[in-house]
Order: sequence, then C-alpha cells, then structure tokens
Amino acid sequence: ARKSVGSGYSLHDSDEARRQIRARALEAEMKGALAAGQFFLLYQPQVELARGSLTGAEALVRWRHPEFGVVPPFEFIEIAEASGFICELGAFVVEEACRQAITWPEALSVSVNVSPLQFTRMDMVAVVRKALSESGLSPERLHLEITESAFLDVSDEILAQLAALRALGVKIALDDFGTGYSSLGYLARFPLDFIKIDQSFVRRLATDPASLTIVGAVKSLAAGFGARVVCEGIEGETEWQMLAAMGCEEGQGYYFGKPQPGEDIRLAAARVPDR
Ligand code: C2E
Ligand code: CA
Ligand code: CA
Ligand code: CA
Repeated sequence: ARKSVGSGYSLHDSDEARRQIRARALEAEMKGALAAGQFFLLYQPQVELARGSLTGAEALVRWRHPEFGVVPPFEFIEIAEASGFICELGAFVVEEACRQAITWPEALSVSVNVSPLQFTRMDMVAVVRKALSESGLSPERLHLEITESAFLDVSDEILAQLAALRALGVKIALDDFGTGYSSLGYLARFPLDFIKIDQSFVRRLATDPASLTIVGAVKSLAAGFGARVVCEGIEGETEWQMLAAMGCEEGQGYYFGKPQPGEDIRLAAARVPDR
C-alpha cells in the first residue's frame, strides 16, 4: 500500500486490511448466500449500432449481501474461481438468465459470462441443456461470453464443449478482445459468432488514434472470420457514431443503458424505439 506524506501509514493500509477481511467473509458466506437467494442478475441492453435498436442484453451477476449491500462481481468472481464455487454460481446464472429471457420478445438474446473453469471442472454442455429445456428458451437466443484467457490453453476439452454448444445452436462470443494475450491462433481454430471489443479501446476512441486503428483492425479480422463485432463501454454519441461508421455491428454501454432488472428490459422492448 502507498504511504501518505508525513504521517506514517496512510488510509491505504487500513483500506487494504479491511478489503482482505471482507474478501474472507465473502468467501466463507458464498455458498450459503446462493442457497439463500442473495445472488441476482442485472441486464445491460445490447443494441444494433446502425439503428440503435435493442438486440438483447448481457446478464451481470450481483450479490445482495445482508451487511455489505450490493456487492459487484469484481469483488467475488475471482474468489469464486479460486474455490471452484464459480461452477455452482455459473450454473445458477445460466438458469436464471434463461428464465428471464423467455419473458422477453423472441427477437432478444441473453448473453451470459462464463469462466474458463466452468468448462474444465464441469460439463457446461449439460448445464446449458438443462437451462434451455427447463426454461423453454431456444438455443439461438443464448449467447455465452468467454474471455480470451479461456482460449489460451485451448485444451481440446474446452474446444469440444464449445463445439457441442454451438451444435445445439448456442452462440459463442469472445469477450474482452484485445486485453489478453496476442496469440490469434484460436481465431483460426474455433468458429466464433461474436468478438467483443474491450471498453478500454472504445473509451479512448475519440482521442487516441491507436485505439481507432485497433478497433478497425479487429473489425476486419472479425469480418474475415464471419464474426460480428460487439463494442463495450459506449458512453457517448460520438463513440457510437464512430463505431457505427466503421461497420461494427453491435454495442452496449451507459449511453444505451446501464445494467438493470430483467423486467425493465422487457418493458423497454415493448416500447417503440425512438431512434
Ligand atoms: P465484462 O463481461 O467485461 O462486463 C462489462 C462490465 O462493464 C460490467 O461491469 C458493466 O456494468 C460495465 N460497463 C458496461 N457499460 C459500461 C460503460 O459504458 N462504462 C463503464 N465504465 N462500464 C460499463 P460489472 O457488471 O461490474 O462486471 C464486471 C465483470 O465481472 C464482467 O466484465 C465479467 O467479467 C464479470 N462477471 C459479471 N457477471 C458474471 C457472471 O455471471 N459470471 C462470470 N464468470 N463473470 C461475470
Ligand atoms: Ca462480458
Ligand atoms: Ca468485457
Ligand atoms: Ca471484463
């Protein structure tokens, strides 16, 4: 932790201590919290950039903690991955997202984040099959977002599960593209439906020529592999227009909508789009 000027140990040290205590509490309470129904999903609207019309939403998990209030995923996903609990949590997320999406108009998809561990420690194909059959959601409406790191040690096991999921009709998105390692080999080895450009590039788009170049390159790379581009973190009209002009197909960000209850997505979809 950083030291403050003058007075010995700074706030940062006690902040760090408090953070660690809280992390241990979260770890100990996770399993019980799932059983107690404290985890829930918010959904961020995803739009077609050319028209600004809703195409679906990304499910983002939250923990309503009795003492800490609503805890964001960056505080518990890593802990859940380390303990393996992410598999139970991940199964809940897929099931809950499918249950919610079936209440939306048929044209809308739901995107679910999946940790690499969910492929190595459990049978994701079985989890997805169960979620689809129990909810009645058609497979095309379920999109799975997998981070680049999942492809790093592209075990044949992961590739086989992804292929089986794709054969079911489920769509696969490569998340956080550009933030991980630069090996592009997996693009050739596995057919993807969507490539998601990380928000760090989108945010700098208007001010940083390098980000513009990268987004353009990813767009042509994606086109070459028959994948659609989804841009994250669109916060302004300027970014939207630039990305649309580059031919990026879809996007999401605070400009279009923050993560919100699934019911709000249903209500928004029912209204006539105003642009
Ligand atoms: P991600 O998949 O890259 O999700 C995008 C994150 O950016 C979300 O944060 C979202 O709220 C935020 N965001 C969206 N639009 C904007 C914007 O315009 N500006 C800014 N500044 N931020 C924006 P969130 O919900 O805190 O999720 C953080 C990460 O937690 C996700 O990153 C994902 O990696 C992970 N995560 C969330 N839900 C799940 C889940 O159910 N399972 C797993 N394995 N990971 C999850
Ligand atoms: Ca994501
Ligand atoms: Ca992302
Ligand atoms: Ca991320």
